[in-house]
Amino acid sequence: MSCCKNVNMFLYPYDIVRLKNCLQIDSETCMRLYTRLVKGEHPYFPAVMLKLKDNEEKACPFLGEGGCSVYHDRPSACRSYPLERAVDRTLARGRCQDYYFLTDHAYCLGHKENNFYSVTKWKREQQLEDYNGMNDRWAEIDTIFATNPWKGEGSGGPKQQMAFMVSYDVDGFRSLAVRERLLEQFRLTREQKKLIRSDDTALLQFGFEWLKLFMTGKSSLMQL
Ligand code: SF4
Repeated sequence: MSCCKNVNMFLYPYDIVRLKNCLQIDSETCMRLYTRLVKGEHPYFPAVMLKLKDNEEKACPFLGEGGCSVYHDRPSACRSYPLERAVDRTLARGRCQDYYFLTDHAYCLGHKENNFYSVTKWKREQQLEDYNGMNDRWAEIDTIFATNPWKGEGSGGPKQQMAFMVSYDVDGFRSLAVRERLLEQFRLTREQKKLIRSDDTALLQFGFEWLKLFMTGKSSLMQL
């Protein structure tokens, strides 16, 4: 299975939520064991990559004898492959359009199979909609990071570290939200609060909106 070795794979916040729940570990442990930080596309926020095994093969840490051990919750890049997704966010009225490119690595035997897939069918079979939706929300946040919202603090300061925790350490953010009674500061229904408290994806979505408010003053959250 060469395709799961020596890969340069970026991981996004929703990937971490899915992986840590699959592995039944907390987000801080998941980040520490399975990721490494690299320079991002802009200097104001790091990117997160999968940490490969430190052996000759440089295998994915989730590659077991029987294949992918986190298959149900594998990251978005694994689901998309051999497609790569690009999103054009320059359209009018905030609309965006996604495009898919087909990669063709010689080791990928899937290209030799006699099956026909449309992009729509591939997205459906790989259950990409949830991942794409969350990755689009994340891209919106990272676009704000690219404007250097930290100002005088510089990157690596307390605000950026807080933003990193909200984005990649959902369990740390949950502790902060409880400690600071964050949910009580916004107009949220009882059902919304219950969902945010119990569901990592809902908490991450809340965190993205909270970051938007924190950085731009604009968000779907209504302060009380
Ligand atoms: S997460 Fe699974 S599918 Fe993705 S590279 Fe690792 S073993 Fe392969």
